[in-house]
Amino acid sequence: MFLDLAFIRFVITMTEIAFLSEDEIKFQIKARDFVQKTLAPVAEDIEQGKVEAWDIIRKFGKAGYLGSRYPLEYGGIGKGLMYEVLVTEEICAVHAGFDMARVASCILFAHPVYEFGTEAQKKKYLAPVAKGEKIGALGITEPNVGSDVAGTETRAEKRGSKYVINGEKRFITNGPVADYLLCYTVTDPTVKAKQGMTAFIVETKAKGFEVVEEYELLGMHGAHVGRLALNDVEVSEEQILGDLNGGFRVVMAGLDAERTILAAEMNGVARAAMEEAVHYSNHRVQFRRKIREFEGISFKIADMATRLEAARLLTYKAARLIDAGKSATKDAAIAKLYACEKSIETATDALQVLGGIGYTKQRPVERFLRDARLMTIGGGTAEILRYLIQREVFKEYDL
Ligand SMILES: Cc1cc2nc3c(=O)[nH]c(=O)nc-3n(C[C@H](O)[C@H](O)[C@H](O)COP(=O)(O)OP(=O)(O)OC[C@H]3O[C@@H](n4cnc5c(N)ncnc54)[C@H](O)[C@@H]3O)c2cc1C
Repeated sequence: MFLDLAFIRFVITMTEIAFLSEDEIKFQIKARDFVQKTLAPVAEDIEQGKVEAWDIIRKFGKAGYLGSRYPLEYGGIGKGLMYEVLVTEEICAVHAGFDMARVASCILFAHPVYEFGTEAQKKKYLAPVAKGEKIGALGITEPNVGSDVAGTETRAEKRGSKYVINGEKRFITNGPVADYLLCYTVTDPTVKAKQGMTAFIVETKAKGFEVVEEYELLGMHGAHVGRLALNDVEVSEEQILGDLNGGFRVVMAGLDAERTILAAEMNGVARAAMEEAVHYSNHRVQFRRKIREFEGISFKIADMATRLEAARLLTYKAARLIDAGKSATKDAAIAKLYACEKSIETATDALQVLGGIGYTKQRPVERFLRDARLMTIGGGTAEILRYLIQREVFKEYDL
């Protein structure tokens, strides 16, 4: 059973009044309304695999909710990453697996194309993805390459005027259904991978592209995550994103926006978990008292609210920095680390507040916990983010 509309308080919190512009608040209210009308009624069916998430994501594309950051000529609405943060939280408060599929296309694939693409690439690949007409995926991870992106093994060799790609990618969100794969490869194996990597936009209809398997996941149902093989897949020079051998820069630049949006996703999940706990604890009576009157319960609610407010502000800060064209490496990493770890705590606490019913599929809290659990792994593990954050701190002190 999913969150009943009546359970969700359609209020603009003080955080939003303090930190968002009037236009942003209006956008957020419209997005919330669209999500409630378009996604909420089918969320349970998406969770159970009865409705294909992409059939609904296309509607989000038509309504302009896949391209908040991208200019109109590339299929977007020309607003900024902050707007993407707002719509992401709204969607994830209803169904995070749906959003994982959406974000893999409109951020993980599309954002690097927006940042590094030529005019022709943006028209050809970004615009249809931002409108929801085509599906994108990001291909970094490989069987032997996870956190250590510089260890990429997939090779692209020049043969005549073409490049030929061979390798395997795994855990690729949208991989089984994508039209385009942003595929990181090694083009110069004689130097360190950081100097010899190139990003290619691969069209998945190309000969030699194969979906090897689709994974069954603990959570994030509705998203298709697969293992892909590229066997002699031919690509042209026009499909290189950024510079030849400049792929490492492309991958790193994309991660700040990705991490900010993943933080927003988990704020949505934490918000939904908190709302369930607030509502339930206000109704459930034990020992002739509403359970919210017991400090053991009410202080959990206080902790949930504190964590959510803090995580949201960190996320807003990272988005504002990116929209201002500033470096957000540390801030995006902090936002993602904090929001993701705290969403797991909040979902765990919410389940505790609901007691036995929280452990059943009659309430959505068990789903919030399963969905949140991914996010200290995907998009940079908690350990790698801590490594990045401390590195940036020492840099700030010239150490
Ligand atoms: C559902 C799902 C969807 C995904 N979607 C995508 C996608 O769309 N595109 C894509 O490219 N990838 C995707 N991924 C891959 C994801 O980004 C990786 O799983 C993640 O980067 C970690 O890589 P790994 O799983 O190989 O773990 P590993 O890198 O093997 O790490 C295993 C453990 O060792 C720790 N570890 C590794 N190195 C260090 C270190 N130096 N210091 C301390 N600890 C360390 C890690 O933190 C982790 O706890 C997805 C993964 C999942 C599960």
